[in-house]
Amino acid sequence: MATQETTMDKIVSLAKRRGFVFQSSEIYGGLTSAWDYGPMGVELKNRIQRFWWREMTQLHDNIVGLDAAIMMHPRVWEASGHVENFHDPMVDCKHCKSRFRADHIDLNEACPTCGTKGEFTEPREFNLMFKTHMGPIPSDDSIVYLRPETAQGIYVNYKNVVQTSRVKIPFGIAQVGKAFRNEIVTKNFIFRTCEFEQMEMQYFVKPGDDEETFNYWKEKRMAYYDKLGIRMEKLHFHQHGPGELAHYAKDAYDIEYEFPFGWKELEGIHNRTDFDLNRHSEYSRKDLTYLDEESKERFVPYIIETSAGLTRSLLMVLCDAYDEEEVAEGDIRTVLHFHPQIAPITVGVFPLVKKDGLSELAKKIELELREDYTTYYDQSGAIGRRYRRQDEIGTPYCITIDYQTKEDKTVTLRYRDSMEQIRIPISEISATIKKAMKEYKRVGVAASS
Ligand code: ATP
Repeated sequence: MATQETTMDKIVSLAKRRGFVFQSSEIYGGLTSAWDYGPMGVELKNRIQRFWWREMTQLHDNIVGLDAAIMMHPRVWEASGHVENFHDPMVDCKHCKSRFRADHIDLNEACPTCGTKGEFTEPREFNLMFKTHMGPIPSDDSIVYLRPETAQGIYVNYKNVVQTSRVKIPFGIAQVGKAFRNEIVTKNFIFRTCEFEQMEMQYFVKPGDDEETFNYWKEKRMAYYDKLGIRMEKLHFHQHGPGELAHYAKDAYDIEYEFPFGWKELEGIHNRTDFDLNRHSEYSRKDLTYLDEESKERFVPYIIETSAGLTRSLLMVLCDAYDEEEVAEGDIRTVLHFHPQIAPITVGVFPLVKKDGLSELAKKIELELREDYTTYYDQSGAIGRRYRRQDEIGTPYCITIDYQTKEDKTVTLRYRDSMEQIRIPISEISATIKKAMKEYKRVGVAASS
């Protein structure tokens, strides 16, 4: 049972304390809006990415992967519309100089920072792309951009993929990678940053099949979060109204999560029509039509996009997993209820005491488990404290080796969520954990917020 409200301060503090996320260049006072992922954070991020990748590629016959370069030909961003359209209207408070996205605040109301009423500058356009130069002499011809989304790398490679991997429409191309946006308003920890990672899958379909496919992916993407163990009451769809639709989109839904700071976008599902391929065809003067071998029809495919933030997903997973539970009167434990498949450490292994050969035996068991799981060996401090340390980083299973182990070759297996402890033979540890991971259902958080 949660005893206190989940707040961002607690999550940020835990993330720092336990090595999930550090401020970039902290010893120099930090760089606004840039963050580094520590030993636990990088494991968690890699696992979320792998979970997504498996779901989107391995579990489908017709989705292949790609890893395109961050820097692309500058014409790509003219064709995509980013040079012309990719900007947020910004306003400054005349009094305290705080800057806001004009579409995020009501310009007749008080400044969210200083409270001064209605004293904002006129909205100004601000291009979000980072620009740099490639080559020794900076000139207009040497401009390159850091990609503001991974999607365009997929579109410009679509023909290469069709010609080399024998995929047939309908098919998808998945990619995970860094993207950069010169966001002026960055807040809420890693929610909105200038450097972030996206997990995108672009699905190419025959025009006319787009609406059905769009609905399919909309449902499929929501089901993915259920599989990831996220509380479904914290997720909903938000359909873009006519004023919100991007210039290329025919229909768009966001999947929103209820963060401690409100309902916010986690992922976008867009029907991008044939806009992207038509534009690239026009700007590159290359034929990007698709020939259906069977019907001999030639057409420009429509694209259904699913675009999720990886770093934003990590924040969502942290918020969703975080809980403080009163496990006995006055005894509160902080726990992260990660799905076992994404927990940075899967199994903690502890000898009850260091002496009498128990640590050697525990180490031996740990080395065997390492073949199948990410393990963590800990022999310092009281056993209860060792469990709590693992609870705080979300380790779903702990094994304790004690004197009885020497006699009958059994160990204690402790479950993170229920804190239940069972006795099992050493020979069954690996299989028991495998089964528990497969059948995992989160418990112990019913009353949490
Ligand atoms: P927002 O309205 O929050 O700026 P967006 O609609 O511009 O987002 P998309 O261009 O659809 O976002 O990008 C797809 C996904 O990439 C988003 O759902 C989000 O998870 C992630 N994302 C976008 N911008 C950022 C950012 N600055 N920092 C972290 N993640 C981001």
